Amino acid sequence: MTCKWYPVCPMKRYMDAGLLDPKWVDTFCKGGWERCVRYEMEERGEPHPDWMLPDGSLDEALRDEKRGQNRF
Ligand code: SF4
Repeated sequence: MTCKWYPVCPMKRYMDAGLLDPKWVDTFCKGGWERCVRYEMEERGEPHPDWMLPDGSLDEALRDEKRGQNRF
């Protein structure tokens, strides 16, 4: 089952733009979303940056992409 947040999750935007390693979507969004740090924080209503990956690590390249190209 796919994560309920996937349609609105930044990971989908990065994925569609070809900026994200598909392993993240396969492993979390379309697999073990209950282990996703983004999911847990979303459920708790805690703010988190768009460029935080499902394991909770921050991907500076995604952050820079977001700032530099302003296309999201
Ligand atoms: S990154 Fe996490 S919250 Fe976002 S769609 Fe994937 S599993 Fe869900």
